[in-house]
Amino acid sequence: MKSHFSLILLSTLQCNADCDYCFENKTTDRLTLDRLGEMMRKVLDYMVERSLDALTIYWQGGEAMLLPPSWYEQANEMIRREADARGKEVFHSLQSNMLSYSSRWNQVIADMFGNSVGTSLDYPNLHRKLLGQGPESYNQIWARRVREAQAAGIAIQVIAVPNQGTLDIGAERFYDYFVEELGITEFQINTPFPGGDAAAKHELPVADVENLSRFYRELADIWLERGYPRGIRIGPFDALLQHFSHEPTQLPCIWGENCANTIVSIDARGYVAQCDCWVTSYPDYHYGNIFETANFGELLRTSPVRQRFNERPIQLIQRDCLSCDYLSLCHGGCPVRTYTVHGSLFEKDPYCGLYKAVFGRMERAALELAQTAVAARAVAV
Ligand code: SF4
Ligand code: SF4
Ligand code: SF4
Repeated sequence: MKSHFSLILLSTLQCNADCDYCFENKTTDRLTLDRLGEMMRKVLDYMVERSLDALTIYWQGGEAMLLPPSWYEQANEMIRREADARGKEVFHSLQSNMLSYSSRWNQVIADMFGNSVGTSLDYPNLHRKLLGQGPESYNQIWARRVREAQAAGIAIQVIAVPNQGTLDIGAERFYDYFVEELGITEFQINTPFPGGDAAAKHELPVADVENLSRFYRELADIWLERGYPRGIRIGPFDALLQHFSHEPTQLPCIWGENCANTIVSIDARGYVAQCDCWVTSYPDYHYGNIFETANFGELLRTSPVRQRFNERPIQLIQRDCLSCDYLSLCHGGCPVRTYTVHGSLFEKDPYCGLYKAVFGRMERAALELAQTAVAARAVAV
């Protein structure tokens, strides 16, 4: 099996939106192609040193589409040359708020990003806003751009973060909005966390884990009944169902063995941190700066902050998570969700109860599907 590494690359720290819960500290910094070249040579040299076969770059911002399509075309070409010279494979994935999308992007999205874009929308939208405007205009522009992209054959994956309004309207209305009204066939719901320091970020339903768990369970039921048979994919339910059905799958990073082993983020200034949730929001948690080192591997190896990330799973296994039935699946959950709630890396994820509820539901669903398949085979013979 090929060894793989993920780089979350913030090509610009500028954004054309002003979401209440944004954890990015936005600046006017943009990566130049020269600096990108230096960065990629160091990252690819690290892959050679560690015998890593493949790299996926998750391009984000700020807003990644504030750099022009021609910039990405040149970046793609340059990265391919550097990767080929070292015998490495590089894949690209684009995350954008879609507000700047136009048909000018179609070629590079097809050539570089597998004709697919990941984007975000909440329902109801309380917190996503255009600069100086309210949430309604964000939704209108977003929906228009997404429809244009879909009409051009681009696959759109949506990430939604539930808020108090989402819990109030309930899972059925939420599902209908995405699937029936917007025609989205693949989306993912992420648990909110109070990243950064603005007051609005602390009003998210992170304290209401019980109600959020109920919402997740109800949405899982609706998906199993109406979405799963039609091939609609909702993360994390689809990946968990595959996991409990013993099928190969890719679970979200929050349940990885240790995200510090497989993921790193670099921002447009060269700062290196665990992921996009840390790199602009928590300067004390930087691993270092890639432009200030000759050797990226050494920066990672000698970073005291990264050492703390590496110690987290061991500490949790010895304490809070030791007797959990789902330990080998969850590994104590996500460090940033833990840190933003507890102010420490060395606690289990505050959504532990929600995770257990969802794991239990999808485990039961996998068993029922297997029993149904066995019964159908028995009838057939
Ligand atoms: S679109 Fe993303 S980067 Fe921009 S303000 Fe919203 S959350 Fe922050
Ligand atoms: S801190 Fe959380 S969101 Fe960031 S890479 Fe680790 S698991 Fe993923
Ligand atoms: S579900 Fe809770 S107790 Fe179990 S591993 Fe995850 S965080 Fe730990």
